[in-house]
Amino acid sequence: MDKEELQSHLQARYKDIKKPELKAVIRIQDEILSALRDHLRSVGFIEILAPIIGPVTDPGIRGASQVSFDYYGTQFKIMSSMILYKQMAGNSFDKVFALSPNIRLEPEVTRETGRHLSEFRQLDLEIANASYFDAMTIGEQMVTKVVERVKINCADDLEALHRDLKIPKPPFKKVTHNDAIELLMKKGFQLNKGEEIPWSAETALSKSFGDFLWLIDYPKTARGFYDREDEDRPGILRDFDLFYPEGYGKAISGGEREYEYEKVAGRILSSGELPEAYKWYLQMLKEGTTPSAGFGIGVERLTRYICGKEYIWEAVPFPKVPGIVSP
Ligand code: AMP
Ligand code: MG
Repeated sequence: MDKEELQSHLQARYKDIKKPELKAVIRIQDEILSALRDHLRSVGFIEILAPIIGPVTDPGIRGASQVSFDYYGTQFKIMSSMILYKQMAGNSFDKVFALSPNIRLEPEVTRETGRHLSEFRQLDLEIANASYFDAMTIGEQMVTKVVERVKINCADDLEALHRDLKIPKPPFKKVTHNDAIELLMKKGFQLNKGEEIPWSAETALSKSFGDFLWLIDYPKTARGFYDREDEDRPGILRDFDLFYPEGYGKAISGGEREYEYEKVAGRILSSGELPEAYKWYLQMLKEGTTPSAGFGIGVERLTRYICGKEYIWEAVPFPKVPGIVSP
């Protein structure tokens, strides 16, 4: 579909939402949401309410723009993710999660990836005093539980969507960012070791393994200032992404958090951000913050994978697609 076709298609969402196909997707999404929450509560998490506006938001959003607005004379942002607040909550609770909308004005080229929205929801969680390996264990168990439950409780809907969904088998394979780059370069991709992996290469990576795959140890230059640098391997972060099988791309992004004031302040400066904007956050770190690890998982991407949809806008009731004006 070209831009005009997609726009008029999405303008008429009130028609699509009555169709059996979208209704099946929305029922499956409901099951996904309750499975996520039930599972996390069963392993000791509590759900907290996320903010959707604030003086500053997640800067690590690879090429997307944030939305700013005037808040009683102060510039405010709409959350691109509530990551900074998770660290605040981690000072009070050992295991927290929040499900909240994120706004990222992604470049229009991302319409072609099939997995970018400009408004999406993320389930964000954080675990106090945990390593990134602990967080990956939580992540793979959670994803597996969700797939198991959908297969049991939504068998008819999956069948109506002709989706033959495999139950994942944790522990998932872990590959370092460095090894993944080498592997992709052998496949003919022109890549740079210090950067995030481009979307087309992410798709290739996600197709080439038969199951879910963890990519770990991203270079410092590829990520936001909050991913913790490994003390024994300067330049390497203790972080990860999870990739879906079958070419569906990235599912989860997370890692251990940098929590020491001096380090974070230095990384904010070297990333070209203004420390002044992160005033409350830096002050919190200065006064001492619990070390933690966590991740975010995009709900629409999870729905798209589970339902086997080509486009992410087929996996959300009221989609906002980059560059498209729709209700
Ligand atoms: P990130 O903060 O970019 O690492 O994103 C965290 C998670 O949110 C990703 O792993 C995705 O599942 C999801 N996500 C990020 N950007 C988008 C987007 N533009 N549209 C839909 N989901 C997204
Ligand atoms: Mg992130």
